[in-house]
Amino acid sequence: MVRLILYLLLAVLLITLLRSVLGILLKAAARWLLAGGSQASRSTPSGGELRQDPVCGVYISTATSYKLTEGGKVLHFCSEACREQYRRRKGEAKA
Ligand SMILES: [Zn+2]
Repeated sequence: MVRLILYLLLAVLLITLLRSVLGILLKAAARWLLAGGSQASRSTPSGGELRQDPVCGVYISTATSYKLTEGGKVLHFCSEACREQYRRRKGEAKA
């Protein structure tokens, strides 16, 4: 009977130990992923400023927008379609 209690105590101790180790590992993994993610992909809309799409008027983040440089100014579009539409419109204006 005493042995059973000892085993139980040991099991509880092991579980708490494993939990703390796992917690540390998970924290380290999350930090590593966050650090790697911010460098690898800039798809998160949290970065960059908001700019208005001159075609449809939608506000997009400069980090995710489709860019078009015109006369030293960078225009930001919500989609490839809007950028193409803007280009076409400019072409028509010149012609
Ligand atoms: Zn648009």
